[in-house]
Amino acid sequence: MRLNCPCCGPRGIEEFTYRGDATVHRPGTDAPAHAWVDYVYLRDNPDGWHRELWYHGAGCHAWLVVTRNMRTHEIADVARAVDVARQARENARS
Ligand SMILES: [Zn+2]
Repeated sequence: MRLNCPCCGPRGIEEFTYRGDATVHRPGTDAPAHAWVDYVYLRDNPDGWHRELWYHGAGCHAWLVVTRNMRTHEIADVARAVDVARQARENARS
């Protein structure tokens, strides 16, 4: 499997580290205990497209959001996490 890093171009998967589900959001400090249990322990196992966090440790050290099909491992998109977060903030404002 290869990932097309937005900074470095196509690279072998051995240069990257999977860092988790990119769809979970950290609860606020005033959130109830069950929200923290869900955040720490509960993950979906989707059959199809999923967004994941990857880290390019042997390259540019960028955090990436990879949209990958869990069944076929096809990769639809690789974006810098900072850009994804910026776009989400802009969408929340509008
Ligand atoms: Zn890179």
